[in-house]
Amino acid sequence: MSLIISLLVMKRIYLDHNATSPVRPEVMEQIQEFLSKTLANPSSVHQSGKRIRRAIDQAREDVARLIHASPSEIIFTSGATEANHLAWKAFQRSGQRIITTKIEHPSVLGGASKAQEMGAKVVFIRASKSGTLETEEVAGAIQEGVNFASIHHANNETGIVYPIQRMAQNMRSPSFIFHTDAVQTVGRIPIDVKELNADLLTISGHKLGALAGIGALYVRRGVPFEPLWEGGPQEKGRRVGTENCLGIVSLGAACRILYQCQESEGQQIFELRNHFENELVSRISGSEITGKGQPRLPNTTHITFEDLDGESLLIAADLEEIDCSTGAACSSGSLKPSHVLLAMGFSLEQAHGSLRFSLGWNTQEKDISQALEILPKLVTQVRTSGQTNFRKIAQ
Ligand code: PMP
Repeated sequence: MSLIISLLVMKRIYLDHNATSPVRPEVMEQIQEFLSKTLANPSSVHQSGKRIRRAIDQAREDVARLIHASPSEIIFTSGATEANHLAWKAFQRSGQRIITTKIEHPSVLGGASKAQEMGAKVVFIRASKSGTLETEEVAGAIQEGVNFASIHHANNETGIVYPIQRMAQNMRSPSFIFHTDAVQTVGRIPIDVKELNADLLTISGHKLGALAGIGALYVRRGVPFEPLWEGGPQEKGRRVGTENCLGIVSLGAACRILYQCQESEGQQIFELRNHFENELVSRISGSEITGKGQPRLPNTTHITFEDLDGESLLIAADLEEIDCSTGAACSSGSLKPSHVLLAMGFSLEQAHGSLRFSLGWNTQEKDISQALEILPKLVTQVRTSGQTNFRKIAQ
């Protein structure tokens, strides 16, 4: 039975790693090994509890090593959404002058709204269609004196990587704190928190091939920080509640693997992605890659197709066993077009006519060849049938 299931699973071409990267087999092994012994409370003093504590400590070291941080600077959370809120918490009050962008993940935009409600002044930098951030607005906000900025490292929908290192450097002043949501870059491109000038940095497990429901926030030693909740000793009081040991073990395992293989895996994925997108645009008329010429994630292609409804293509691709996305999966089912694309200046038609393909550790050459055979035919079919009744953009 399990063989049949795995054959069925293997048949699909999974090009949606920016939404969730499936659990890596090596991580699965570590999870199974971990589960095979007693799952005790890591705060318990007995041997079973100590085993869990050691596993958490090891995972903390593995996460820290991947981003060149110290283990004590890593706080485990329930995912990147929580980590982003945690990063913002100390700055959601009156008197704070904050910069962020209009194209952040909804969890960061939620943090920004809360900050505004609490009386902080928040400047939202606009993004351009070509993939840059409006530097004039940044310069203006800097002149007014900024004490907190939260700018994502790479956009989950377009894959564009932003020059946060330089931006943080330009904003630097003695009391300035810089947060970056690095969910899409950690494990995909080399990350060194010091080189990036990051004081706070967000990580998500399920984008790396670990479990969903686990994430981490890097907090540089000495950075102002407030927990979301009170009432417990866990994570030194910075994130209370009994630890998600299984998730933490999976995140540590994924980071350990990536520390070894990130470069070679990344190069392989980059080559496959380049082949895929070059071929796709040459085979499909009226198709354009978003952010071409800008630094981009090595695994992501975001393409706008003229005269085409992206959701119809997504559904047609799904029926042909290709998993991709019209945006980001978090608000899948939303009828609104992507806030990211609209903020970048895409028209409604363009926003509705684009798809994201994101490759990952399990993408093979044959998947790409097969997708290249199928997708151009589907685009022609969808265009000729004039399907425009599906107006859903997944975030
Ligand atoms: N930030 C970015 C850039 C993301 O892509 C995501 C996931 N779509 C998140 C934050 C939220 O991550 P999580 O699912 O771990 O809460």
